[in-house]
Amino acid sequence: MMVIKIGGAEGINYDLFLEDLARHQDQEIVLVHGGSGELNKISTKLGKPPVMVTSASGHVSRRTDKDTLEIYNMVLCGKINKSIVEKLQGLGVNAVGLSGMDGRLLVGKRKDIIITEDGKKKIIRDDYTGKVEQVNVKLIKLLLENGFMPVISPPALSHDNEAINVDGDRAAAMIASALHADILLIFSNVPGLLRDVNDETSLVREIRKENIAEHMSLAKGRMKKKIIGTIEALQQGVSRVVLSDARMQNPITQALEGKGTVIQ
Ligand code: ADP
Repeated sequence: MMVIKIGGAEGINYDLFLEDLARHQDQEIVLVHGGSGELNKISTKLGKPPVMVTSASGHVSRRTDKDTLEIYNMVLCGKINKSIVEKLQGLGVNAVGLSGMDGRLLVGKRKDIIITEDGKKKIIRDDYTGKVEQVNVKLIKLLLENGFMPVISPPALSHDNEAINVDGDRAAAMIASALHADILLIFSNVPGLLRDVNDETSLVREIRKENIAEHMSLAKGRMKKKIIGTIEALQQGVSRVVLSDARMQNPITQALEGKGTVIQ
């Protein structure tokens, strides 16, 4: 079984990616998607430009107040999820689009964000951000065993039954772990983990899982979540994670052949 995460960063050609995905449909595949680029564009058009907050512990996340959460649901569960399902159906893949809330697919903890302002710690209480803790494996298997391809998007559901913004890479890692997937492929708009983020030739081709933590310092910004997700998936029994480039021709085939950063 294979879990594939496709990011939402600029430069990704979804059509080519999904065509290649359709070529692998004889395998059990769960697709997880994000949508940060599209979300930024649409929320800006709607007069709610993205605001990123850095917590006191150094984590960067999207400030997700109620209005932002509504736009988040519209863009991820609506526009992006349904356009992926539409394209996959056109390619002969019987895709079923689900958010993490449907059937309690992804349940997690909503957390308060603690920031430091003027040297003082301040809690932002009206934020809907959190972390996936449970995956409804039964629901995913029900779909896979009946020939459907699940296409999963954040948000998750909090323990108090509220939508929460969760990181797509870490959600994909949780899903891969819960399903005991053989492989997790994480696609973005970079060749993989780069030693120098401005130099695409500085790709780290292979990392042994016992050495992954020491590569953490190379990852800046959003790449950090991919490395954290990778560590979580490997710790929980996924044998191989590949961080790869969705901008290539036949990206899935190439990633399975080892193109990108292979961590095992
Ligand atoms: P997606 O939406 O596709 O999941 P993100 O934008 O969240 O993608 O994360 C990918 C981004 O991470 C890259 O576009 C790059 O700017 C950034 N990044 C930071 N550090 C690194 C690194 N060491 N190697 C590769 N990319 C990095």
